[in-house]
Amino acid sequence: MEPKYRRVLLKLSGESLMGKQGYGIDTDRLNEYARQIMEICSMGVQVAIVIGGGNIFRGVSGAAKGFNRVKGDQMGMLATVINSLALSSALDAIGQPAKVFTALNMYPIGDYYSNRVAIEALQRGEVAVIAGGTGNPFFTTDTGSALRGIEVEADVMLKGTRVDGIYTADPEKDPTATKFDKITYDEVYNRGLKVMDLTATALCKENHLPIVVFDMDTPGNLLKVIKGEPIGTLVY
Ligand code: UDP
Repeated sequence: MEPKYRRVLLKLSGESLMGKQGYGIDTDRLNEYARQIMEICSMGVQVAIVIGGGNIFRGVSGAAKGFNRVKGDQMGMLATVINSLALSSALDAIGQPAKVFTALNMYPIGDYYSNRVAIEALQRGEVAVIAGGTGNPFFTTDTGSALRGIEVEADVMLKGTRVDGIYTADPEKDPTATKFDKITYDEVYNRGLKVMDLTATALCKENHLPIVVFDMDTPGNLLKVIKGEPIGTLVY
């Protein structure tokens, strides 16, 4: 079966790596993600990944507790590096080669991100795990993932979350909320929907990178998206 997408940028939130724990990395969840990723790689899909760091540290929450915002954001970026190392290690362990890149030079923890080297890794069938967000404070990993997705010329950005798409309101708070099958970037903005931050949405819009928001915590869903099954919400 032909995959719908040849090259994808998969965005995973740090928070979902916590699994049932309140903090840190749940190894069952990590291994399940690795298994789902390997499954699509074995179909010939090239996979670049950006992971958040919210399971460990967020600059905004740090600042609310008195941390310097820039240092807090740097701590958040380091948190994404920790998560990226964990995922690459889980991928390697099941026989799926993965290469870690970092937005800031931290060699030998990962390779200093280079667009060309990342694309070469993808073409060799390695998963490119791109850590450290954009490398700058005041940005998010959603923006980092939009940026890297555009740079590596991904066909789509797959935003794996714990909800199964974009709703008219937060479905965890409002039982009358209904799900969109697809929605334009402008509608996301005009309705004030909290899908991604505005910088990330604007980058995707300007560079024509579609986004699929889907529930990554249900095993098999990543494969369904790749096969083109109608799950999640397409932002176009
Ligand atoms: N961060 C940053 N610049 C970036 C990406 C991330 O400063 O380009 C910091 C920021 O403090 C953020 C933290 O890293 O709160 C973790 O990233 P994010 O909140 O996007 O993670 P997620 O919500 O996806 O777990």
